[in-house]
Amino acid sequence: MTFILETRNVSYSYGDGTEALKRVSISLDEGKKIALVGPNGAGKSTLMLMFNGILRPSAGEVLFHGRTLRYDSASLREVRRKVGMVFQNSDDQLFAPTVYQDVAFGPVNLGFPEDKVKKYAGYALQYVGLSGYERRPPHHLSGGEKKRVAIAGILAMEPEVLILDEPTSNLDPASSEEIMDMLDELNCGGKTMIISTHDVDLAYHWADEVILMEDGGVLHRGTGQEVFGDAELIKRARLKLPIVVDLYKELVGRGLLNGSKPPRNVLEFTDLLVSGNRGTTSQEVLLGKIYICNVDGPDLEGIKGILEKVHASYTGAMGTNAKIMAEQARIPLDFTYGVIDKCILKALTGKNSLIMTSGGMVDHSVRRIRAYCEESGANIVVIKLAQPAESSMNSDMQKVLSQKESTTPIEVAQ
Ligand code: ADP
Repeated sequence: MTFILETRNVSYSYGDGTEALKRVSISLDEGKKIALVGPNGAGKSTLMLMFNGILRPSAGEVLFHGRTLRYDSASLREVRRKVGMVFQNSDDQLFAPTVYQDVAFGPVNLGFPEDKVKKYAGYALQYVGLSGYERRPPHHLSGGEKKRVAIAGILAMEPEVLILDEPTSNLDPASSEEIMDMLDELNCGGKTMIISTHDVDLAYHWADEVILMEDGGVLHRGTGQEVFGDAELIKRARLKLPIVVDLYKELVGRGLLNGSKPPRNVLEFTDLLVSGNRGTTSQEVLLGKIYICNVDGPDLEGIKGILEKVHASYTGAMGTNAKIMAEQARIPLDFTYGVIDKCILKALTGKNSLIMTSGGMVDHSVRRIRAYCEESGANIVVIKLAQPAESSMNSDMQKVLSQKESTTPIEVAQ
């Protein structure tokens, strides 16, 4: 099996002699969400710059799809197209006088014909929710908007891998959530995502794989539970434990909780507490339902109609399209990040919720809820609304909605 990216004994020294990487050998699987964590100066940024050939190893080699990177200009252009890099500081990345020119820069540079440039830049801007911003100067945008322009510039080149150095640093919590939600959506579409971050809570719940770096080398790698389960190592790397892990360890230490490994997120933590207190996952409350509305189907009026009929206590949106739709329809959102888990938590307290989303995220949501139900024994009913059809989306949605719930739900049971 080949990896999408690999380093073999990569070392790198900067011009002043600083040894930033020391014989680093790691391999990254395609389609994964990977977080590099570690203290300042650990070598995270330097390693990221190796992945698309911005830096060349002093020793060792970097491989993309099993092939050693070459550093002639044609090979570099090719790898930079497929492995896109979003810098920590957007001002280092955005330089053109308008948003459109910035996003079009990559495709123009790759020699795409003008109509293709327009199409790709247009799609990319639409994807990040910035259609209509084409003529704006990037330096007048907010931090979150600048980050989205930088991501659009990479997306316009159709990359396989996105590398983001500290994607949420300097962003307010809402903008951070929007960016992370977008990264989830892109990953759901098959792109490999690599981020570096100091935010241990983010790395813990977001990443499939965490790579802990220190002093130019890899200290540990594995799932968040494996890496952050080793408190000594985390201390050595001058990081702190994710809050979920910290709380879990305290409660286990005081004999208030039994458990063999820390929960991955608030949902698992809640389940652990509930089962600890009652000996089993709580089934006493009537579980709420989760409605999933595919916004690719209905129009604005249709969406409003759905809301009126499903009586959801909570509404969440996943992905840019769904959020734009919610804003246009003036639908107040309770959840904009971690939406699936939050809706499961609400279902466990007997409340109905609605997830607005689109594309592959619909099935992703169903799979996630199904996996939770299988693991926990809970039996949450999921109802898909408004599947897109070749014919009139709107009438299709109405048809689905007018059916009795008992004929439409996907019963998600053990
Ligand atoms: P991190 O991203 O984990 O903070 P970096 O890769 O930025 O780590 O830095 C690794 C080491 O390389 C640090 O000792 C840092 O001071 C040094 N370094 C980074 N960039 C440069 C540079 N341009 N010139 C000299 N040393 C650098």
